[in-house]
Amino acid sequence: MDSASLHARASKLVPGGVHSPVRAFRAVGGNPVFFKSAQGGTLTTVEGREIVDFVLSWGPSLLGHCHPEVVKAVQEQASTAFSFGMCSELEVELAEMIHAKIKGMEMLRFVSSGTEATMSALRLARGFTGRDGIIKFDGCYHGHSDALLVKAGSGVATFGTSSSAGVPADVVKHTIVVDFNDLKSVEDALKLTPIAAIIVEPVPGNMGLVIPDAGFLLGLRRLCDQYGALLIFDEVMCAFRVSPTTAAELFGVMPDLFCFGKVIGGGLPVGAFGGRADVMQLLAPLGPVYQAGTLSGNPLAMRAGLETLRLWFNGKGFDKTESLGRDLDALMAPVVAGRGDVKWIRLGSMFTLFFLPEGAPLPKNMEEVRRCDFGRFGRFFQFMMKKGFLIPPAQYEANFLSTAHTHAQLKAYAAATAEFLAIDK
Ligand SMILES: *Cc1c(COP(=O)(O)O)cnc(C)c1O
Repeated sequence: MDSASLHARASKLVPGGVHSPVRAFRAVGGNPVFFKSAQGGTLTTVEGREIVDFVLSWGPSLLGHCHPEVVKAVQEQASTAFSFGMCSELEVELAEMIHAKIKGMEMLRFVSSGTEATMSALRLARGFTGRDGIIKFDGCYHGHSDALLVKAGSGVATFGTSSSAGVPADVVKHTIVVDFNDLKSVEDALKLTPIAAIIVEPVPGNMGLVIPDAGFLLGLRRLCDQYGALLIFDEVMCAFRVSPTTAAELFGVMPDLFCFGKVIGGGLPVGAFGGRADVMQLLAPLGPVYQAGTLSGNPLAMRAGLETLRLWFNGKGFDKTESLGRDLDALMAPVVAGRGDVKWIRLGSMFTLFFLPEGAPLPKNMEEVRRCDFGRFGRFFQFMMKKGFLIPPAQYEANFLSTAHTHAQLKAYAAATAEFLAIDK
């Protein structure tokens, strides 16, 4: 059955025919594509077309799809047990590995998604500080829990109104939204009301890739210390992508709590939150902050995560993705050279090509990303799809590299991009 027929079948039963809205390709037009298999840096559609994948399941597939050793480990595990709803050695092993490799991760707890990780970290920060207020940044995505589903306007700090129907105003009134890379807007918000935590993607990938200015993250750390708020780094996307470990280590700024997801499950549903032991010890059953999960720490996901991280660290995975990244920079440099209508940015294995108004600077916050030419981006997406590349179906999403991508694939991506820019002016 082809993608169009499957989408029609799905749409009878599932809103929009998709189980996560971005998959509907609404931002770029056209119909969703259905896939049947994946290997390394490529996907195969139900029609049998091979496509180079820069979405990588929105980040998790750091080693490429179906790395043989991860597959073997998961198969072995599946024949042993895939859920106890009780304790197992694997969750101890993965916790120990993350503790050993991630500086600042004194204690942690596993959950099953990034949304759960950020939602739980916030509750914990509120329990620890006894305060309700939180600060988030316009354009940073932290999953779909009520309190975090807020964007709001730019410039001056504003009390949030939700970006979704169905979220009580009483919940989001505690969420203040400020601009990324703008410490003054953060300090203004801290003066307004008692703040439990500042939550931030230290390297945002959910407004396209945006880089923190020198001193921005350190400034957040200092402001948190000054005002008694906790600093939460949501590294669900950027961990293992901007450095061998975290953005915290890359920039030398330690948060009080981390949120993880995506990569640490190697493609199976996992999240984690953790950090300072004195904060984490407030969690049930030790403390009064409740949090739980039927499938948390399930052996199948733990095994996939363990094998992925083992291969990543033992195989010096970051050296590989960084070298591919440099390769791609070199290939893209002549493509964007002298052009005022596109901007290229890469850090580690994340990258974005921004389609901007002539002469606009590389975006430093969401307001600047909103100036992008989304129609043109949509045409770029469709063009690349025809040429055999899946890029994220929205300008607001970062592209990813894996250790399994090849020079030939990157060269072809750069060539196709050049071709598009030459015909779409
Ligand atoms: C993807 C993402 C989340 C949400 O994770 P889910 O597993 O989709 O719930 C949270 N924060 C960041 C930074 C993300 O990129």
